[in-house]
Amino acid sequence: MANQLADEHIEMKQQTKDIKLYINGEFVDAASKHTFENISPYTNEIINHVASGDNEDIKKAVQAARAAFKGEWGKLKVKDRLAYVYKIADLIDDHIDEIAPLESFDTGLPIAQTKKMVSRAAYNFRFYAEMVSTRMVGEAYQVDDEFLNYTVHKPVGIAGLITPWNAPFMLETWKIAPALATGNTVVLKPAEWSPLTANRLAEIIDKAGLPDGVFNVVHGYGETAGASLVAHPDVELISFTGETTTGSEILKNGADALKRFSMELGGKSPIIVFDDADFERALDACTWGIFSFNGERCTANSRLYVHEHIAEKFIDRLKQRINKIKVGDPLKADTQVGPLIHKNHYDNVKDYLEIAKAEGCEVISGNIPDGKGNYIAPTLILNATNQMRVVQEEIFGPVIAAMTFTDEQEVIELANDVRYGLAGYVWTQDIQRGHRVAQAIDSGMLWVNAQNVRDLRTPFGGSKHSGIGREGGHYAFEFYTETQIIHVALKDHHIPQFGK
Ligand code: NAD
Repeated sequence: MANQLADEHIEMKQQTKDIKLYINGEFVDAASKHTFENISPYTNEIINHVASGDNEDIKKAVQAARAAFKGEWGKLKVKDRLAYVYKIADLIDDHIDEIAPLESFDTGLPIAQTKKMVSRAAYNFRFYAEMVSTRMVGEAYQVDDEFLNYTVHKPVGIAGLITPWNAPFMLETWKIAPALATGNTVVLKPAEWSPLTANRLAEIIDKAGLPDGVFNVVHGYGETAGASLVAHPDVELISFTGETTTGSEILKNGADALKRFSMELGGKSPIIVFDDADFERALDACTWGIFSFNGERCTANSRLYVHEHIAEKFIDRLKQRINKIKVGDPLKADTQVGPLIHKNHYDNVKDYLEIAKAEGCEVISGNIPDGKGNYIAPTLILNATNQMRVVQEEIFGPVIAAMTFTDEQEVIELANDVRYGLAGYVWTQDIQRGHRVAQAIDSGMLWVNAQNVRDLRTPFGGSKHSGIGREGGHYAFEFYTETQIIHVALKDHHIPQFGK
C-alpha cells in the first residue's frame, strides 16, 4: 500500500469541515479567531482546522452553562431531563456507522474496535438515565420521635470535563452522560489531537434539542483552554482523564478555587502468568491487552511477568503472534493495529525503543505497512529488568516488556514496584492463588483469568499515581451530585436559652 491513500480517507478528508466551538447552542469561532491544525495519523496531512479556544471562550461557555443551570435545565422535571439523555443515546446509535469511521480516521484506532466503543458510548447515556431514575432518591433517617432527617441529591453545578485523545468519544461520554443525567451543565475541553467526534457529539446534542448552554464544547490547548476551565471560580467540579503529570498540574492550578476533582491517570499494568495458567487463553489475553487500541490504552498490560517454567514457550508464541498481527489502514475492517495518533507521540514511542536498546534489552518488532502513517510495529522487549525506564514509565504504544519470575511473593513485589496502580491481570488455575495475588496487587482494578471487560455498574479507576477517585456505576453518581442532609423537628425540642 506504498503511499496509496485509500479512497475512503480521501473522501472523508473532503467531507470534513473546519470545526468551531459549541457555546450556548451555537457553533462559533474562537474569540481570538485562532485555529489549530488537525492532522491525520494515517497520512500526516492536515485534515481540517479547529477553532482554538482560550480564556475568553471558556468564560463565555461557563456563563452559558451557569445560565442554563439556573434557568430552563435546572427547572426541568427529572423525567423530562432524562428524556433528553435517552434521545442522545438514540441519536448516537442511529449514527454508529458514521461516528466510528470518523473516530478511526481521526485517531488511527482500528474501525472494528471503534465501532464497539461508539455503541458503548450510547449505552453510557442509557445506563445513567436509568440509574438516575431509580437511584436519585434520598434516604430517610427516623432518628427518634423528635426528629426526622433525610437526604436529597442535587446536581453540583457546572461540570468541567477534560479528556484525552485515546478512545475520545467513549471517554467523553463516560463523563458527559452521568453529568447531564444528574442535572449538571457541562463545559467539555476535548483533546486537541482528536476533535472530530467531540464536534460530532456537539451536533448530535444540538439535534437532541437540549436547552442552550447545557452542553458546551471548547476546543483548544490544554495550557490555555484547559487551564482556564480548571481555574474558573464558577466551575464546581473537574473530571479529568489524561497523563499523571497533567493531573498533578491541574490539581495545583485548581487548588485556589477549591473544587471537586476526579482524576483518571496513566498506567503501567502488569499481566502475571503462572505456570498452571490456561496457556492459550493467557496468550490471547496478553496479546489483545497490549496491542488492541494500538497500545494507546490506559489499562494496557504493558508489563508481562511469566513464570520461568513456561517463559520460553510463552515468549516464543508471543513472538509468532506479533508477526501475524494485521497492522494497517484503520478504516479497514480486518485491521488489528493502526497508526499512532500523532507524529509527536510516535517519536516518543520510538525513543522508548532506543532507550530499551541502550539499556541492554533485545527489541523484537513485527511488521508495518509502507506509507506515511505513524506506524509502530507490535513490539516485544526482552531482557528487561524492573528498574529500567521501559518497565517503569508509560510508553502508551504497542510495546510490551517481558520478564520472568520464580515465585508468587517475588512477582507480587515486582508487579507493585512501579508508581502506577491502574490495572492488573492474573492468570492461574489455582483459585486460591488467583484471589490471593489479586488482592496483593496495588491497583484500582484487577482481572483474574479475564481480559479487560467491565460492566458499567462497577467502579473504574486507579490507585497510587494512576488516579484519585472512581468513575462508573454509583461512584459517578456520587461524584456528580451533592448530598444534602435536612434535619426536621417533629415537635418542639430543647433549645438552650442563651442571653435570655
Ligand atoms: P494529556 O494529559 O496530555 O491531555 C489530556 C487532556 O488534558 C487534553 O485535553 C489536554 O489538552 C488537557 N490538558 C493538558 N494540559 C492541561 C493543563 N495544564 N490544564 C488543563 N488541561 C490540560 O493526556 P493525553 O496524552 O491526551 O492522554 C493519554 C494519557 O491519558 C495516558 O497517560 C493514559 O494512560 C491516560 N488515560 C487514562 C485513563 C484512565 O481512565 N485512567 C483513560 C484513558 C487515558
